Amino acid sequence: MKIIAYGIRDDEKPYLDKWSEENPDVEVASTGELLDESTVDQAKGADGVVVYQQKPYTAAVLDKLGSYGVKFMSLRNVGVDNIDADAAKRNGIQVTNVPAYSPEAIAEFTATELMRLLRRTNTFDRKIAHGDLRWAPDIAEELNQMTVGVFATGRIGRAAIRIYKGFGAKVIAYDIFHNPELEKEGIYVDSPEELYAKSDVLSIHAPATKENEHMLNDDAFSKMKDGVYILNPARGILVDTDALIRALDSGKVAGAALDVYEDEVGIFNTDFGSFDKIPDERLKNLIKRENVLVSPHIAFYTKRAVRNMVYFAMDANKSLINTGKSDKLVKL
Ligand code: NAD
Repeated sequence: MKIIAYGIRDDEKPYLDKWSEENPDVEVASTGELLDESTVDQAKGADGVVVYQQKPYTAAVLDKLGSYGVKFMSLRNVGVDNIDADAAKRNGIQVTNVPAYSPEAIAEFTATELMRLLRRTNTFDRKIAHGDLRWAPDIAEELNQMTVGVFATGRIGRAAIRIYKGFGAKVIAYDIFHNPELEKEGIYVDSPEELYAKSDVLSIHAPATKENEHMLNDDAFSKMKDGVYILNPARGILVDTDALIRALDSGKVAGAALDVYEDEVGIFNTDFGSFDKIPDERLKNLIKRENVLVSPHIAFYTKRAVRNMVYFAMDANKSLINTGKSDKLVKL
């Protein structure tokens, strides 16, 4: 049995090597290149491919995989929206993903950023860099005195709730599906509007669906408390960036931590050499603000998460090849 893993980064390679050692019955090939028309030939002779990229998995690529008899494709990430579903079906290619590799990684990062906002560490770091060691006027707020509104109580939302409670915050939540355990605790409110009206901090953990697109827009911001803090470690498209900038300008939003951004593809995880060369004026506008923390989609980026992405995808691919089954099969 042979599996080829595409787009393997340096930080993933040690985990792939370890998996390979632990699975001597599988011949593992790997490349740092992404799966596209110029690299798909490397899959000839393999039984399955393991991949992770934002670049599309096009019909041309999937047709070639099909013609080489490669019927199993395992993603090391969650999102499958960049796969040409018709082409995958036409070629009988089964796809798995890794729906959860470490919800705690994202939750811990979100809480870190919230504490940085509340304790004004970005402002103090900048002041200290200029030799200004004064306290005022940058007095902080305490999370234990605040109400955190968690939008969506899936895996990451629930991990975040555990952390916020640990800080002594009051937690309320909104979700179209009520988790039975949380339901018992009575933390759910009935509508997004109620969540907006009651929260000092909004922690967003919903997936990017058509109906959620720009859910945080001018109208939503107008329903929030004055001086609300916004945390978006979910998907950039959930927030109307122009509306957020207006809400920051007016003071409606006191601070925001954004690990995702609606135009992040091709920008995040790239070294532009200098701040000025970042090719997105709106993003630079946000980064320049002391009360906005922009991070380049790194909430997931921990050793445990990267290990799990590699291991879960390789395990799923091997299982598909051996048995035609996997608990991580995706319906395209
Ligand atoms: P999940 O599937 O476990 O949970 C999603 C929850 O959202 C579910 O409870 C669902 O009922 C709820 N939901 C869906 N639509 C809703 C709506 N319109 N209103 C209210 N609730 C709604 O997902 P998860 O694993 O917790 O991931 C949450 C988000 O985090 C996703 O957007 C995911 O893409 C993102 N994410 C970010 C990173 C990162 O590094 N920043 C890493 C992984 C995942």
